[in-house]
Amino acid sequence: MTKNIIRSVKGTKDILPGESSEWQKIEKSFRNFIHRYGYREIRTPVFEKTELFARGVGEGTDIVTKEMYTWEDRNGDSLTLKPELTAPVVRAYIQHNLGTELPLTKLYYFDSLFRRERPQKGRQRQFHQFGIEAIGSPFPELDAEIISAAYLFLSDLGLSKLKLKINSIGSNIAREMYSRELVNFIKPLRNKLSKISQKRLETNPLRILDTKIPEEIDLLKNAPDITKYLTNEDQEHFQDVVKLLEIMEIPFILDSRMVRGLDYYSRTTFEITSDSLGGQDALCGGGRYDSLVESLGGKPTPAMGFAAGVERILIALGETQISNYTNRTDIFIITMSKDSLEMGISLSNILRKEGFYIGMDSLRRSVKSQFREANKLRAQYALILGEEEMKQNKVTVKQMSSSDQSMIDINSISSFFKKSFSL
Ligand code: AMP
Repeated sequence: MTKNIIRSVKGTKDILPGESSEWQKIEKSFRNFIHRYGYREIRTPVFEKTELFARGVGEGTDIVTKEMYTWEDRNGDSLTLKPELTAPVVRAYIQHNLGTELPLTKLYYFDSLFRRERPQKGRQRQFHQFGIEAIGSPFPELDAEIISAAYLFLSDLGLSKLKLKINSIGSNIAREMYSRELVNFIKPLRNKLSKISQKRLETNPLRILDTKIPEEIDLLKNAPDITKYLTNEDQEHFQDVVKLLEIMEIPFILDSRMVRGLDYYSRTTFEITSDSLGGQDALCGGGRYDSLVESLGGKPTPAMGFAAGVERILIALGETQISNYTNRTDIFIITMSKDSLEMGISLSNILRKEGFYIGMDSLRRSVKSQFREANKLRAQYALILGEEEMKQNKVTVKQMSSSDQSMIDINSISSFFKKSFSL
Protein backbone atom coordinates (compact mmCIF):
# COMPACT_ATOMS: atom_id res chain seq x y z
CA MET A 1 0.00 0.00 0.00
CA THR A 2 1.39 3.42 -0.91
CA LYS A 3 1.52 5.90 1.91
CA ASN A 4 -0.20 9.30 1.79
CA ILE A 5 2.15 12.16 1.11
CA ILE A 6 2.50 14.71 3.87
CA ARG A 7 1.78 18.27 2.79
CA SER A 8 2.78 21.58 4.33
CA VAL A 9 0.44 23.09 6.91
CA LYS A 10 -2.37 25.43 5.77
CA GLY A 11 -1.16 29.03 5.62
CA THR A 12 2.52 28.09 5.22
CA LYS A 13 4.48 28.00 1.98
CA ASP A 14 7.66 26.48 0.65
CA ILE A 15 9.97 28.91 -1.06
CA LEU A 16 11.24 26.80 -3.93
CA PRO A 17 14.67 27.09 -5.57
CA GLY A 18 13.24 29.02 -8.54
CA GLU A 19 11.74 31.61 -6.18
CA SER A 20 14.45 31.90 -3.56
CA SER A 21 16.66 34.09 -5.75
CA GLU A 22 13.94 36.79 -5.62
CA TRP A 23 13.94 36.53 -1.83
CA GLN A 24 17.71 36.80 -1.75
CA LYS A 25 17.54 39.90 -3.93
CA ILE A 26 15.12 41.65 -1.58
CA GLU A 27 17.11 40.66 1.47
CA LYS A 28 20.37 41.82 -0.07
CA SER A 29 18.90 45.11 -1.31
CA PHE A 30 17.40 45.80 2.10
CA ARG A 31 20.67 45.11 3.90
CA ASN A 32 22.62 47.35 1.52
CA PHE A 33 20.01 50.07 1.78
CA ILE A 34 19.60 50.12 5.54
CA HIS A 35 23.30 49.89 6.32
CA ARG A 36 23.57 53.30 4.70
CA TYR A 37 21.31 54.64 7.48
CA GLY A 38 23.49 53.12 10.20
CA TYR A 39 21.21 50.23 11.24
CA ARG A 40 22.68 46.96 12.52
CA GLU A 41 21.05 43.55 12.37
CA ILE A 42 19.44 41.90 15.37
CA ARG A 43 18.18 38.28 15.41
CA THR A 44 15.81 37.23 18.17
CA PRO A 45 14.53 33.74 19.05
CA VAL A 46 11.58 32.16 17.23
CA PHE A 47 9.58 31.92 20.47
CA GLU A 48 9.22 34.11 23.51
CA LYS A 49 7.29 34.14 26.76
CA THR A 50 3.62 34.78 25.98
CA GLU A 51 3.61 37.60 28.52
CA LEU A 52 5.91 39.64 26.26
CA PHE A 53 3.23 39.93 23.58
CA ALA A 54 0.32 40.19 26.00
CA ARG A 55 2.04 43.14 27.68
CA GLY A 56 3.81 44.56 24.65
CA VAL A 57 1.28 44.25 21.84
CA GLY A 58 -1.81 44.60 24.05
CA GLU A 59 -4.36 42.21 25.58
CA GLY A 60 -7.20 43.52 23.44
CA THR A 61 -5.49 43.33 20.04
CA ASP A 62 -6.45 40.82 17.34
CA ILE A 63 -2.98 39.36 17.47
CA VAL A 64 -3.11 38.56 21.17
CA THR A 65 -6.77 37.55 21.45
CA LYS A 66 -6.95 35.17 18.54
CA GLU A 67 -3.89 34.90 16.33
CA MET A 68 -1.04 33.66 18.46
CA TYR A 69 0.46 30.17 18.38
CA THR A 70 0.75 29.64 22.10
CA TRP A 71 1.47 26.48 24.05
CA GLU A 72 2.29 25.39 27.52
CA ASP A 73 5.85 24.15 27.82
CA ARG A 74 6.59 21.08 29.90
CA ASN A 75 7.54 23.18 32.91
CA GLY A 76 4.27 25.09 32.72
CA ASP A 77 5.65 28.24 31.04
CA SER A 78 3.37 29.76 28.43
CA LEU A 79 5.35 30.29 25.21
CA THR A 80 4.42 31.86 21.87
CA LEU A 81 5.84 31.82 18.34
CA LYS A 82 6.59 35.44 17.60
CA PRO A 83 3.67 37.18 15.86
CA GLU A 84 5.51 40.50 15.48
CA LEU A 85 9.03 41.80 15.94
CA THR A 86 8.89 45.06 17.85
CA ALA A 87 8.22 43.54 21.28
CA PRO A 88 11.07 40.95 20.96
CA VAL A 89 13.51 43.59 19.71
CA VAL A 90 12.61 45.92 22.58
CA ARG A 91 12.90 43.02 25.03
CA ALA A 92 16.42 42.33 23.74
CA TYR A 93 17.26 46.05 23.85
CA ILE A 94 16.31 46.19 27.54
CA GLN A 95 17.79 42.82 28.50
CA HIS A 96 21.21 43.55 26.97
CA ASN A 97 21.33 47.26 27.89
CA LEU A 98 21.83 48.16 24.25
CA GLY A 99 20.93 51.75 25.05
CA THR A 100 24.19 52.24 26.92
CA GLU A 101 26.28 51.81 23.75
CA LEU A 102 24.87 54.71 21.79
CA PRO A 103 22.14 57.21 22.65
CA LEU A 104 20.14 56.11 19.61
CA THR A 105 20.01 52.36 18.99
CA LYS A 106 19.26 51.50 15.37
CA LEU A 107 18.35 47.87 14.70
CA TYR A 108 17.02 46.00 11.70
CA TYR A 109 15.76 42.47 11.11
CA PHE A 110 14.65 40.05 8.41
CA ASP A 111 12.55 37.31 9.97
CA SER A 112 9.66 34.78 9.98
CA LEU A 113 6.47 35.54 11.90
CA PHE A 114 3.45 33.46 12.87
CA ARG A 115 -0.18 34.54 13.10
CA ARG A 116 -3.18 32.25 13.00
CA GLU A 117 -5.12 34.32 10.47
CA ARG A 118 -7.50 33.10 7.78
CA PRO A 119 -5.15 32.36 4.87
CA GLN A 120 -5.74 34.11 1.57
CA LYS A 121 -3.59 35.72 -1.11
CA GLY A 122 -1.07 37.90 0.71
CA ARG A 123 -2.09 36.55 4.12
CA GLN A 124 -0.33 33.55 5.56
CA ARG A 125 0.12 31.96 8.94
CA GLN A 126 3.86 31.95 8.61
CA PHE A 127 5.10 35.01 6.74
CA HIS A 128 8.20 37.16 6.55
CA GLN A 129 8.97 40.72 7.42
CA PHE A 130 11.93 43.00 7.35
CA GLY A 131 11.95 46.15 9.39
CA ILE A 132 13.75 48.59 11.60
CA GLU A 133 13.47 49.89 15.15
CA ALA A 134 15.21 53.09 16.27
CA ILE A 135 15.14 53.42 20.03
CA GLY A 136 16.11 56.60 21.88
CA SER A 137 14.85 59.72 20.09
CA PRO A 138 11.55 61.55 20.60
CA PHE A 139 12.12 63.97 17.74
CA PRO A 140 10.17 64.29 14.49
CA GLU A 141 13.31 64.07 12.35
CA LEU A 142 13.52 60.40 13.33
CA ASP A 143 9.91 59.82 12.26
CA ALA A 144 10.54 61.53 8.93
CA GLU A 145 13.75 59.62 8.29
CA ILE A 146 12.08 56.28 9.02
CA ILE A 147 8.99 56.98 6.92
CA SER A 148 11.11 58.19 4.02
CA ALA A 149 13.43 55.17 4.30
CA ALA A 150 10.45 52.79 4.06
CA TYR A 151 9.01 54.66 1.10
CA LEU A 152 12.29 55.04 -0.76
CA PHE A 153 13.25 51.40 -0.29
CA LEU A 154 9.94 50.15 -1.68
CA SER A 155 10.06 52.50 -4.64
CA ASP A 156 13.73 51.64 -5.32
CA LEU A 157 12.65 47.99 -5.55
CA GLY A 158 10.62 49.01 -8.56
CA LEU A 159 7.20 49.05 -6.89
CA SER A 160 4.87 51.56 -8.43
CA LYS A 161 1.35 52.64 -7.41
CA LEU A 162 2.54 53.10 -3.84
CA LYS A 163 0.42 55.08 -1.44
CA LEU A 164 1.90 56.43 1.78
CA LYS A 165 -0.68 57.32 4.42
CA ILE A 166 0.35 59.09 7.59
CA ASN A 167 -1.47 60.08 10.75
CA SER A 168 -0.91 61.01 14.35
CA ILE A 169 -2.84 59.14 17.00
CA GLY A 170 -1.40 61.36 19.70
CA SER A 171 0.08 60.66 23.06
CA ASN A 172 -1.62 58.36 25.56
CA ILE A 173 -3.71 61.16 27.11
CA ALA A 174 -5.04 62.25 23.72
CA ARG A 175 -5.82 58.70 22.71
CA GLU A 176 -7.70 57.92 25.90
CA MET A 177 -9.85 61.01 25.47
CA TYR A 178 -10.49 60.24 21.85
CA SER A 179 -11.28 56.63 22.60
CA ARG A 180 -13.97 57.68 25.04
CA GLU A 181 -15.53 60.06 22.52
CA LEU A 182 -15.44 57.43 19.83
CA VAL A 183 -17.21 54.91 22.08
CA ASN A 184 -19.89 57.51 22.86
CA PHE A 185 -20.39 58.07 19.15
CA ILE A 186 -20.52 54.38 18.24
CA LYS A 187 -22.62 53.02 21.13
CA PRO A 188 -25.98 54.11 19.68
CA LEU A 189 -25.01 52.39 16.38
CA ARG A 190 -23.94 49.20 18.12
CA ASN A 191 -26.66 46.97 16.69
CA LYS A 192 -25.84 47.96 13.14
CA LEU A 193 -22.21 46.88 13.52
CA SER A 194 -20.65 43.55 12.63
CA LYS A 195 -19.99 41.06 15.44
CA ILE A 196 -16.28 41.77 15.31
CA SER A 197 -16.74 45.55 15.58
CA GLN A 198 -19.17 45.05 18.49
CA LYS A 199 -16.50 43.10 20.27
CA ARG A 200 -13.89 45.74 19.49
CA LEU A 201 -16.14 48.34 21.08
CA GLU A 202 -15.29 46.66 24.38
CA THR A 203 -11.71 45.60 23.73
CA ASN A 204 -10.10 48.03 21.30
CA PRO A 205 -12.51 50.70 19.97
CA LEU A 206 -9.93 52.49 17.80
CA ARG A 207 -9.60 49.36 15.71
CA ILE A 208 -13.24 49.72 14.55
CA LEU A 209 -11.94 52.49 12.31
CA ASP A 210 -9.88 49.89 10.42
CA THR A 211 -13.03 48.19 9.15
CA LYS A 212 -13.18 47.28 5.46
CA ILE A 213 -16.99 46.73 5.47
CA PRO A 214 -18.60 49.46 3.27
CA GLU A 215 -21.73 49.81 5.47
CA GLU A 216 -19.57 50.33 8.53
CA ILE A 217 -17.34 52.82 6.76
CA ASP A 218 -20.51 54.71 5.93
CA LEU A 219 -21.77 54.57 9.54
CA LEU A 220 -18.46 55.92 10.76
CA LYS A 221 -18.40 58.79 8.28
CA ASN A 222 -19.22 61.34 10.97
CA ALA A 223 -17.21 59.75 13.75
CA PRO A 224 -15.08 62.21 15.74
CA ASP A 225 -11.71 62.99 14.22
CA ILE A 226 -8.62 62.09 16.21
CA THR A 227 -6.73 65.15 15.04
CA LYS A 228 -9.05 67.32 17.20
CA TYR A 229 -7.92 65.52 20.35
CA LEU A 230 -4.19 65.89 19.89
CA THR A 231 -2.33 67.94 22.48
CA ASN A 232 -0.38 70.99 21.32
CA GLU A 233 2.86 69.01 21.57
CA ASP A 234 1.36 66.17 19.53
CA GLN A 235 0.28 68.64 16.87
CA GLU A 236 3.63 70.37 16.71
CA HIS A 237 5.41 67.05 16.45
CA PHE A 238 3.18 65.93 13.60
CA GLN A 239 3.46 69.22 11.74
CA ASP A 240 7.24 68.89 11.86
CA VAL A 241 7.06 65.34 10.48
CA VAL A 242 4.85 66.57 7.64
CA LYS A 243 7.18 69.48 6.89
CA LEU A 244 10.26 67.25 6.79
CA LEU A 245 8.55 64.78 4.45
CA GLU A 246 7.68 67.68 2.16
CA ILE A 247 11.28 68.89 2.21
CA MET A 248 12.39 65.37 1.25
CA GLU A 249 9.73 65.33 -1.50
CA ILE A 250 8.14 62.14 -0.22
CA PRO A 251 4.53 62.06 -1.46
CA PHE A 252 2.02 61.25 1.29
CA ILE A 253 -1.68 61.39 2.12
CA LEU A 254 -2.98 62.53 5.52
CA ASP A 255 -5.44 59.93 6.79
CA SER A 256 -6.92 60.64 10.21
CA ARG A 257 -8.77 57.30 10.15
CA MET A 258 -5.60 55.22 10.05
CA VAL A 259 -4.99 54.00 13.59
CA ARG A 260 -3.13 50.69 13.08
CA GLY A 261 -3.93 47.63 15.13
CA LEU A 262 -1.39 47.43 17.91
CA ASP A 263 -1.70 49.04 21.34
CA TYR A 264 1.84 50.28 21.56
CA TYR A 265 1.63 52.95 18.89
CA SER A 266 1.57 56.61 19.84
CA ARG A 267 1.80 59.83 17.83
CA THR A 268 2.98 59.17 14.24
CA THR A 269 1.62 56.12 12.44
CA PHE A 270 2.02 55.29 8.77
CA GLU A 271 1.18 52.67 6.24
CA ILE A 272 2.29 52.06 2.67
CA THR A 273 -0.18 50.30 0.40
CA SER A 274 -0.03 49.26 -3.21
CA ASP A 275 -2.90 49.62 -5.65
CA SER A 276 -1.67 46.56 -7.48
CA LEU A 277 -2.68 44.31 -4.56
CA GLY A 278 -6.24 43.23 -3.78
CA GLY A 279 -7.81 43.15 -0.32
CA GLN A 280 -4.53 42.69 1.50
CA ASP A 281 -2.99 45.87 0.14
CA ALA A 282 -0.73 46.91 3.03
CA LEU A 283 2.94 46.43 2.22
CA CYS A 284 4.44 48.15 5.20
CA GLY A 285 3.31 49.68 8.47
CA GLY A 286 4.96 51.48 11.29
CA GLY A 287 4.87 54.18 13.85
CA ARG A 288 6.13 55.65 17.04
CA TYR A 289 5.90 53.66 20.27
CA ASP A 290 7.08 56.00 22.99
CA SER A 291 5.82 54.01 25.98
CA LEU A 292 6.67 50.43 24.95
CA VAL A 293 10.20 50.32 26.42
CA GLU A 294 8.84 51.46 29.77
CA SER A 295 5.88 49.08 29.72
CA LEU A 296 8.29 46.19 29.14
CA GLY A 297 10.30 47.17 32.21
CA GLY A 298 12.94 49.47 30.72
CA LYS A 299 13.64 53.15 31.37
CA PRO A 300 11.14 55.44 29.57
CA THR A 301 12.63 55.65 26.05
CA PRO A 302 10.90 56.95 22.92
CA ALA A 303 11.17 54.86 19.77
CA MET A 304 9.90 54.35 16.25
CA GLY A 305 9.99 51.61 13.61
CA PHE A 306 8.38 49.91 10.64
CA ALA A 307 7.84 46.42 9.30
CA ALA A 308 7.22 45.39 5.69
CA GLY A 309 5.84 42.07 4.42
CA VAL A 310 8.04 40.19 1.97
CA GLU A 311 5.31 37.97 0.48
CA ARG A 312 3.16 40.96 -0.41
CA ILE A 313 6.09 42.84 -1.90
CA LEU A 314 6.78 39.87 -4.15
CA ILE A 315 3.12 39.72 -5.22
CA ALA A 316 3.18 43.44 -5.94
CA LEU A 317 6.38 43.09 -7.96
CA GLY A 318 4.58 40.58 -10.16
CA GLU A 319 4.40 36.84 -9.81
CA THR A 320 7.89 35.50 -9.32
CA GLN A 321 9.04 33.54 -12.28
CA ILE A 322 9.69 29.95 -11.53
CA SER A 323 12.77 29.20 -13.52
CA ASN A 324 14.40 25.81 -13.43
CA TYR A 325 18.07 26.56 -13.76
CA THR A 326 19.25 29.97 -12.78
CA ASN A 327 22.49 28.89 -11.17
CA ARG A 328 25.70 30.00 -12.72
CA THR A 329 28.15 27.32 -13.88
CA ASP A 330 31.55 28.36 -15.23
CA ILE A 331 33.15 24.97 -15.74
CA PHE A 332 31.66 21.48 -15.91
CA ILE A 333 34.13 18.69 -15.19
CA ILE A 334 33.58 15.57 -17.29
CA THR A 335 34.89 12.36 -15.76
CA MET A 336 34.98 8.79 -17.09
CA SER A 337 36.80 6.42 -14.77
CA LYS A 338 37.49 6.04 -11.08
CA ASP A 339 40.86 7.76 -11.55
CA SER A 340 39.42 10.69 -13.42
CA LEU A 341 36.62 10.96 -10.86
CA GLU A 342 39.15 11.27 -8.06
CA MET A 343 41.10 13.82 -10.03
CA GLY A 344 37.86 15.68 -10.87
CA ILE A 345 36.80 15.88 -7.25
CA SER A 346 40.06 17.38 -6.14
CA LEU A 347 40.20 19.77 -9.12
CA SER A 348 36.65 20.92 -8.45
CA ASN A 349 37.57 21.91 -4.91
CA ILE A 350 40.69 23.75 -6.03
CA LEU A 351 38.77 25.67 -8.68
CA ARG A 352 35.88 26.51 -6.34
CA LYS A 353 38.39 27.91 -3.86
CA GLU A 354 39.69 30.13 -6.67
CA GLY A 355 36.16 31.48 -7.06
CA PHE A 356 34.85 29.49 -10.05
CA TYR A 357 31.35 27.94 -10.21
CA ILE A 358 31.91 24.25 -10.85
CA GLY A 359 29.56 21.49 -11.95
CA MET A 360 30.41 17.79 -11.89
CA ASP A 361 28.48 14.58 -12.31
CA SER A 362 27.75 12.45 -9.27
CA LEU A 363 25.35 10.02 -10.91
CA ARG A 364 27.97 8.01 -12.82
CA ARG A 365 26.40 9.00 -16.10
CA SER A 366 27.81 8.53 -19.59
CA VAL A 367 30.06 11.17 -21.13
CA LYS A 368 27.23 12.07 -23.50
CA SER A 369 24.85 12.71 -20.58
CA GLN A 370 27.48 14.73 -18.78
CA PHE A 371 27.86 16.98 -21.83
CA ARG A 372 24.09 17.32 -22.00
CA GLU A 373 24.08 18.43 -18.38
CA ALA A 374 26.90 20.91 -19.04
CA ASN A 375 24.79 22.42 -21.84
CA LYS A 376 21.70 22.56 -19.69
CA LEU A 377 23.57 24.41 -16.95
CA ARG A 378 24.96 26.74 -19.63
CA ALA A 379 28.51 26.01 -18.52
CA GLN A 380 31.07 28.09 -20.38
CA TYR A 381 33.72 25.39 -20.40
CA ALA A 382 33.90 21.62 -20.11
CA LEU A 383 37.00 20.18 -18.52
CA ILE A 384 37.48 16.67 -19.85
CA LEU A 385 39.47 14.19 -17.80
CA GLY A 386 39.82 11.32 -20.28
CA GLU A 387 42.18 8.37 -20.00
CA GLU A 388 44.62 9.74 -22.54
CA GLU A 389 44.73 13.10 -20.78
CA MET A 390 45.28 11.47 -17.39
CA LYS A 391 48.23 9.50 -18.72
CA GLN A 392 49.87 12.69 -19.92
CA ASN A 393 48.99 14.68 -16.82
CA LYS A 394 46.84 16.94 -18.97
CA VAL A 395 43.20 17.91 -19.38
CA THR A 396 41.13 18.91 -22.40
CA VAL A 397 39.40 22.24 -22.15
CA LYS A 398 36.41 22.75 -24.40
CA GLN A 399 34.75 26.10 -24.85
CA MET A 400 31.08 25.18 -25.05
CA SER A 401 29.88 28.04 -27.27
CA SER A 402 32.52 27.64 -29.99
CA SER A 403 33.38 23.97 -29.41
CA ASP A 404 37.07 25.01 -29.59
CA GLN A 405 39.16 22.66 -27.57
CA SER A 406 42.75 22.29 -26.51
CA MET A 407 44.86 20.14 -24.20
CA ILE A 408 46.54 21.92 -21.34
CA ASP A 409 48.82 20.91 -18.54
CA ILE A 410 47.07 20.08 -15.25
CA ASN A 411 49.28 22.55 -13.41
CA SER A 412 48.22 25.43 -15.62
CA ILE A 413 44.45 24.94 -15.25
CA SER A 414 44.03 27.71 -12.68
CA SER A 415 46.02 30.26 -14.63
CA PHE A 416 44.21 29.29 -17.83
CA PHE A 417 40.78 29.92 -16.33
CA LYS A 418 41.85 33.02 -14.44
CA LYS A 419 42.91 34.45 -17.78
CA SER A 420 39.75 33.28 -19.56
CA PHE A 421 37.46 34.73 -16.89
CA SER A 422 39.72 37.76 -16.35
CA LEU A 423 39.93 37.11 -12.61
P1 AMP B 1 1.89 44.49 10.89
O1 AMP B 1 2.98 43.82 11.68
O2 AMP B 1 0.56 43.87 11.09
O3 AMP B 1 1.92 45.97 11.00
O4 AMP B 1 2.23 44.17 9.37
C1 AMP B 1 3.29 44.76 8.65
C2 AMP B 1 3.30 44.17 7.26
O5 AMP B 1 3.49 42.75 7.34
C3 AMP B 1 1.99 44.33 6.51
O6 AMP B 1 1.94 45.57 5.88
C4 AMP B 1 2.05 43.17 5.54
O7 AMP B 1 2.83 43.51 4.41
C5 AMP B 1 2.75 42.09 6.32
N1 AMP B 1 1.81 41.11 6.93
C6 AMP B 1 1.11 41.24 8.08
N2 AMP B 1 0.40 40.12 8.33
C7 AMP B 1 0.64 39.26 7.32
C8 AMP B 1 0.22 37.93 7.00
N3 AMP B 1 -0.60 37.25 7.80
N4 AMP B 1 0.69 37.35 5.86
C9 AMP B 1 1.54 38.02 5.05
N5 AMP B 1 1.98 39.28 5.31
C10 AMP B 1 1.54 39.90 6.42
